[in-house]
Amino acid sequence: MRCEEIRSLLDAHLDHEMGEELNRRLERHLLRCPACSYEARTLEQTRSMLREAVPPAVPSPGFRERAAARLLDALPELHPASGRTAARQWALPFSREET
Ligand SMILES: [Zn+2]
Repeated sequence: MRCEEIRSLLDAHLDHEMGEELNRRLERHLLRCPACSYEARTLEQTRSMLREAVPPAVPSPGFRERAAARLLDALPELHPASGRTAARQWALPFSREET
């Protein structure tokens, strides 16, 4: 395998997305080739640093807003544009009994 091939496969390698055979060939190359093994280590370090900096479970900023907007589109009666009164009646169905 050539170095260029190895570099293009490093991402898949770190994601464990490669087949057994390809994985073995890549690791053999890394043992022989200091440049590629350095590249692999650097990439791995960068990725683990990114994982620590950005926990994958946290939704991106604006996610709640986008989700709310989609919900409002799906439920037109809740949309502010369709009128406050309608939304309030939907949210508080028992307000008439209380007054
Ligand atoms: Zn190489």
